[in-house]
Amino acid sequence: MDGGAGERRRFDGPGDLHLHSLCSDGTEPPEQVVAAAHRHGVRTLSLTDHDTTAGWAEAAAAAVALGVTLIPGMELSARHEWRSVHLLAYLFDPEDAALRAEMDRIRSARLGRAERIVANISRDYDLTWDDVLAQTSGDATVGRPHIADALVARGLAADRTAAFAGILHPREPYYEPHYAPEAERAVELVAAAGGVPVVAHPATAGRDRMMPPAVFERLIERGLRGVEIGHRENTAEGRRVLAEMARRHDLIVTGSSDYHGLGKPNVPGENTTTDDMIARIIEAGRGSAPVYP
Ligand code: AMP
Ligand code: FE
Ligand code: FE
Ligand code: ZN
Repeated sequence: MDGGAGERRRFDGPGDLHLHSLCSDGTEPPEQVVAAAHRHGVRTLSLTDHDTTAGWAEAAAAAVALGVTLIPGMELSARHEWRSVHLLAYLFDPEDAALRAEMDRIRSARLGRAERIVANISRDYDLTWDDVLAQTSGDATVGRPHIADALVARGLAADRTAAFAGILHPREPYYEPHYAPEAERAVELVAAAGGVPVVAHPATAGRDRMMPPAVFERLIERGLRGVEIGHRENTAEGRRVLAEMARRHDLIVTGSSDYHGLGKPNVPGENTTTDDMIARIIEAGRGSAPVYP
């Protein structure tokens, strides 16, 4: 497998290791996501759709065509107590049976949960499951963003942001949770599949606010390798705590956009990951290889 300092010149330049396509809740096919990143000057990127690797092949072809490096990735849904925890996973084996089984379980739980949310909403608003299907591309991992798009299409919300602040907000009576594995188990599964687990946006405000340091320490014991500190939703205080934790435990630190196409204002390259950190990820990943131009 490629990796190490000898490969570094191949990914010189801004890295953005967290972007979404139509394979989950982004609004563009993988090829266009790669093109958008390239247009914004990103030279190494990772497509990290929620709970799926369906976009990898298309993203790889686009990366080769445009001359950028692709780190195969995913954002795995997990939880800690009531919190939704998102675990970025890089360079894992996409055929690993245990991880695949968990991804399938999450994806089907998300589907049932989305149907329940829509059934709840339909008590008060003119929204049907077909409206949501019309906003969902093929076998995409279904989430509230697709319901948001359906609400927008029905004129019940101005855009995704408004839908999330209104009808889709957990404080509203329509919200339903979905099954997701405990964060410790998610970390173990990714590590066992040869992947590099990194907690996504660990320091957001509100309901999914940061896990206590003792929980991070347990995750590190299970194989957690990094934290995404550069993310627009991390609080200033949370970033300070994370930076200190990263220093103490020699964690990989990443920065990324969490681009969702038109679904969010996030722009590719708005936060970046250094070449040194990318090199550490490549060195640690054993389940799949980076795609070099
Ligand atoms: P879910 O996992 O189905 O509960 O939906 C959460 C997803 O919705 C996250 O992955 C985000 O990408 C997206 N999301 C959360 N808040 C917003 C927002 N205010 N505007 C657009 N997308 C959002
Ligand atoms: Fe998302
Ligand atoms: Fe996320
Ligand atoms: Zn994301």
